[in-house]
Amino acid sequence: MANSVYKVPYPTNESILSYSPGSAEKEAVLANYSKMYNETIEVPMRIGNQNITTEETASMQPPHDHKHKLGVYHKANKAHINKAIDAALQAHISWSQMPWESRAAIFLKAAELIAGPYRAKINASTMLAQSKTIHQAEIDAACEYIDFLRFNVAFMQEIYQNQPESGPGVWNRVSYRPLEGFVYAVSPFNFTAIAGNLSASAAMMGNTVVWKPSDHQVFSANILMKVFQEAGLPDGVINMVFGDPEMITNTVLASKDFAGIHYTGSTEVFKNIWSKIGTNIGHYRSYPKIVGETGGKDFIIAHPSSNPKEVATGIIRGAFEFQGQKCSAASRVYLPESIASDIIDYVKSDLETIKMGSPENFENFVTAVIHKGAFDRLANAIEQVKIDSDAEIIAGGGYDDSKGYFIEPTVVLTSDPQYPTMKKELFGPLVTIYVYPDSAWSETLSLVDETSEYALTGAVFSQDRYALEEALTALENAAGNFYINDKPSGAVVGQQPFGGSRGSGTNDKAGSAANLMRWVSPRLIKETFVPASDYRYPFLG
Ligand code: NAD
Repeated sequence: MANSVYKVPYPTNESILSYSPGSAEKEAVLANYSKMYNETIEVPMRIGNQNITTEETASMQPPHDHKHKLGVYHKANKAHINKAIDAALQAHISWSQMPWESRAAIFLKAAELIAGPYRAKINASTMLAQSKTIHQAEIDAACEYIDFLRFNVAFMQEIYQNQPESGPGVWNRVSYRPLEGFVYAVSPFNFTAIAGNLSASAAMMGNTVVWKPSDHQVFSANILMKVFQEAGLPDGVINMVFGDPEMITNTVLASKDFAGIHYTGSTEVFKNIWSKIGTNIGHYRSYPKIVGETGGKDFIIAHPSSNPKEVATGIIRGAFEFQGQKCSAASRVYLPESIASDIIDYVKSDLETIKMGSPENFENFVTAVIHKGAFDRLANAIEQVKIDSDAEIIAGGGYDDSKGYFIEPTVVLTSDPQYPTMKKELFGPLVTIYVYPDSAWSETLSLVDETSEYALTGAVFSQDRYALEEALTALENAAGNFYINDKPSGAVVGQQPFGGSRGSGTNDKAGSAANLMRWVSPRLIKETFVPASDYRYPFLG
């Protein structure tokens, strides 16, 4: 019988392994990469206690080698989705009553499995599925996901410990109930950690989940599901389904037991889902919780007092790591006239040293973009720049999809701060620079604030404290994650809770207690020890 107030292990951030030449971790990840590359697998859906295969399949291939088949995954029809909903509702009966420390133990075990026996597998699968370099896979699929699991367990306890005051003769208590119904998790391709976290954070708080990963992340999602199972997550708590996103979403949203959505992906899709929920609102048992982290058009603005080499490094790392396919990637840059050419020269000379190719070769800093749609979108943007008179390509601009979807890291210089690539999320290795007169610092801050519909991340570089103060105020609502003298990407769980507002999402800060609070419905319990026995108050005389 649980009769103690338990203390969870104090979370610390997982150390990033180096993968330097000759290291054991390098050998292990390459061995897994090679094994996974050379076999073909079938990925079933997981519904309740069953692995589900169907007649309809789709193939999986590495973006950097798109003719090579890694295997197939099985796609759902409407009946499968209803089955997944039923499995989640059935599992809710026991899981919602599971003591919190047992839920915590399962997810802490999952963290240890990834830190240890699954580390090379989850990294290799992320390198193959999403074309991440080993460093990008390690900081995402291993470290960030381990951190999400360990820190969320600690945040969960923090939430449960948060209790109201009690007056004389009364005891007030709050229980943090899971939601009534099931949670729908919809994840993007770009982070294995996000895919795991969208489903696991809601489940950790006692909910059961129907999880739909991106079609372009199924290969690594499959490893996450294996980890959940090995960690002892009961059947039906997280049900993993694949297939037509529109059909799956419409089927889920038609259920009266739909209790919330945990979404990360593009803004347009999220707005579309939100409006469908609005249309169905009369149908649900409760008001669904809607949590979505969406697109970005993240900025770097440099003040004339900034250090050109530091700004250039911020641009290179912020814009081109993982081919610019981070929601936080810098994609619009504002440089002061007096130091713009120094910064641009540093960027250009750094770019000359950057190698592009398969992530299997650890010398490559840049690999392929995720799919043909992304490749075409970026190639078209590059061609448009070549035609337009108010923009020019000053570095990169090449592309080739003969083997993989490769887009060269590309720098565009524009004379028009409203040029389309300063406003539209392109989600790739293309950054646009606008040079402003040094005297127009304040006006340029307004420009940064007003140019895009998004407000996810942004960075200001300056050695002048007054200029920083002015930027902090002028850009107060322009970014949910605001960086001073650093690149705008690379948030660490437990250190920089992540999320943005405006068109970038509901800003429920993944990797924080604020996010977990969305997956509970608190119940206040007031107990009076000696109840009143006369209705008359003293003022009645
Ligand atoms: P996406 O919008 O194409 O897909 C996201 C998810 O939505 C996938 O699971 C997809 O299958 C599903 N989906 C697609 N169409 C749908 C529809 N009509 N109905 C229901 N679901 C649908 O995004 P992506 O290309 O996988 O990821 C990139 C996007 O995600 C970028 O916009 C990026 O900024 C955003 N993102 C944001 C954050 C953040 O924290 N703010 C983090 C990562 C990615």
